[in-house]
Amino acid sequence: MKLFSIFGDPVHHSRSPLMHNSVFKRLGVSACYSRTHLSDGTQLRNVFESKKLSGANVTVPHKEAAYAQCDEVRGIAKTIKAVNTLVYEKGKLIGYNTDADGFMSAIQSFGPIKNALILGGGGTARALSIALRQGEITPTVLNRSSGRLDFFIQEGIKAYCWDGFTADDYDLIINTTSAGLSDNELPIPRPLLIELLSRSKGAVDVIYGKETPFLREIKISGLPYKDGSDMLLAQGVLASYLFLGGEFSLKTIEVPMQHSFSL
Ligand code: NDP
Repeated sequence: MKLFSIFGDPVHHSRSPLMHNSVFKRLGVSACYSRTHLSDGTQLRNVFESKKLSGANVTVPHKEAAYAQCDEVRGIAKTIKAVNTLVYEKGKLIGYNTDADGFMSAIQSFGPIKNALILGGGGTARALSIALRQGEITPTVLNRSSGRLDFFIQEGIKAYCWDGFTADDYDLIINTTSAGLSDNELPIPRPLLIELLSRSKGAVDVIYGKETPFLREIKISGLPYKDGSDMLLAQGVLASYLFLGGEFSLKTIEVPMQHSFSL
């Protein structure tokens, strides 16, 4: 039996085990997907190998650490420098980033978008900023602190911390911070958020499965919005496709994975 897991801290909220196990069960694949709580990201590879995993997903806050521990990184993850999917292939740890394509597929329903403001500067913000730029949508990044802004600046993406930022018009406001995930915080100070939402056409919170304070503010604003469920599904389908070595089509995987959302 092949073994898979998701690594994160926190990880108890993750729906990935349910999503991937539903696919394995429905497609008759002998495999099992578990959760691994990991506080020290530098130990990711050791734990992956000691559990004899065939593949894994990586969530907050270890995506950059996972990137650093891969033997090879493929696709858009090479630019993003953060991976959320690991596959063991012929003794080598291969890293991918399925968040980027998953997000782009999830925002199709907003219609044409010219620019977007990304709140946060972590692995997910990197993935989304590169994906948006590839999709000809201009990204701007706003993070709480300046420590993580270098990546974006080197990529030629406008990036600010709270201190140096003035509100502007953005078609889409996207929360990629972990504010609201296991606390009751907003990703940016409330007055600034209210002004940004009043000048925007839509908003996305990549957190899923709960009403975050950010999501509550969007609902009050009356803007079209999405939580992270569609992105979760899309990135999960792509990860499962990689785990199963391309044996099943994306559509074949999507049906049982989508069904797991109603369980
Ligand atoms: P990282 O740990 O890499 O980055 C977290 C970011 O959040 C940092 O920029 C950090 O700022 C900021 N942050 C944390 N707490 C606060 C706060 N209280 N106020 C303001 N900013 C804060 O996380 P990831 O990028 O890996 O993940 C971020 C979120 O995205 C998680 O909630 C995760 O669950 C979700 N996610 C959802 C997906 C989906 O499929 N729906 C896919 C991927 C991620 P600083 O630099 O100042 O510390």
